[in-house]
Amino acid sequence: MIRNPDAHATRLGAARTLVEDILIPAEARMDAEDRMPQEARAALRAHGLFGISIPEAFGGLGLTMEEEAGLMLVLGRTAPAYRAVYALNSGGTAQILLRAGSDAQKSRWLPGLARGDLIACFCLSEPEAGSDAASLRTTARREGDTWRIDGRKRWVTNAPEAGMLMVMARTGGEGARGISAFAIDPATQGVRVQPAQGKMGMRGAQVADIVFEDCRVPADALVGAEGEGLKLALAGLDKVRLHLAALSAGLMERLLDEGRRHALGRRQFGKPLADQPAVAALLADSVAEALAARCMALELARARDDGTLRPADAAAAKLFATEALGRVADRVLQVHGGEGYMTGSAVERLYRDVRLLRILDGTSEIQRMVVARGLFSG
Ligand SMILES: Cc1cc2nc3c(=O)[nH]c(=O)nc-3n(C[C@H](O)[C@H](O)[C@H](O)COP(=O)(O)OP(=O)(O)OC[C@H]3O[C@@H](n4cnc5c(N)ncnc54)[C@H](O)[C@@H]3O)c2cc1C
Repeated sequence: MIRNPDAHATRLGAARTLVEDILIPAEARMDAEDRMPQEARAALRAHGLFGISIPEAFGGLGLTMEEEAGLMLVLGRTAPAYRAVYALNSGGTAQILLRAGSDAQKSRWLPGLARGDLIACFCLSEPEAGSDAASLRTTARREGDTWRIDGRKRWVTNAPEAGMLMVMARTGGEGARGISAFAIDPATQGVRVQPAQGKMGMRGAQVADIVFEDCRVPADALVGAEGEGLKLALAGLDKVRLHLAALSAGLMERLLDEGRRHALGRRQFGKPLADQPAVAALLADSVAEALAARCMALELARARDDGTLRPADAAAAKLFATEALGRVADRVLQVHGGEGYMTGSAVERLYRDVRLLRILDGTSEIQRMVVARGLFSG
């Protein structure tokens, strides 16, 4: 649903300028320094991107899913590490607060998240609990007026600059029903951020483990009812998966720009690569996949807005778009030949970055399980 077509078109135009004038020029520096450049962060804040889907009442943009997908098609045309920093604020974390938080929790956290003053972290994965999130072991025990949290969360995006932690911890018995959600201030005693080892891409979006040792948080840090945590976390996944499908389509379009430019400019055998049918075919296949991902993301975003989206469809869109993105990155690197393999080329950087999207927010294998469940259950 596009609420106001003129305002939407203006926002997309401003996002295109942001991508071209600020974000793409800062990509190489962000990768080299593993830090988001200040001017990029300031611009992302000025455009309201930390609050994409946080309601306007809390200072966010309050976009519908179709508006958000349209915006991600544009913002996908630059390094996805930018998105890892700003989008988590209005992604899983804010969605849990909006769905189940008390008025006091919403007004405490959401305005700062929407402005980008606070950076949110989503703390679900653990050393022994990745795809099988329901097996997590971090515990939260009620002791008087407090909850005592103990455990370790693995590879938490943005942990080194966290301003708010949404932590999934076990309050009850085994399995999904024993897990609850907590909104925690990272300055609380007993919270320790432990830098993780380096990673192959997405440099600029930092990742670390978070250790909780005898960490006492007030009783009202619990979000929603006891035992509802994993359900709440999974409820926001359809939205995240459509967001990633649109981002992936935008990334394919960026890679195609890079491939097109190189194929037109580089000459071999007396003519541009673009005139070599085998090279052109690599790009033609990529155009088809980018277009399919774009259409899927927009169509399903509309379905989410009108309440008809099925979880299996969101999983299928994430699966298709991120896998296609991997193929497109590989083909475009091939079109660049040796230049695509050398450090410093945009294609080499994007190739490393996009690999993560087939792992995050449910690996491709997990998406296939969700899609198959949808197929066989009805
Ligand atoms: C850079 C980075 C940032 C991250 N940020 C966050 C974050 O902010 N918050 C957070 O909570 N987590 C985060 N994660 C963790 C991420 O969510 C997990 O890596 C992901 O869920 C997969 O879990 P795993 O790595 O433990 O792999 P595993 O679960 O061990 O899986 C390994 C392989 O086995 C496959 N597999 C597992 N079970 C099955 C099955 N039943 N059927 C078929 N195949 C299966 C998987 O698909 C995968 O290919 C991040 C990870 C990275 C690398």
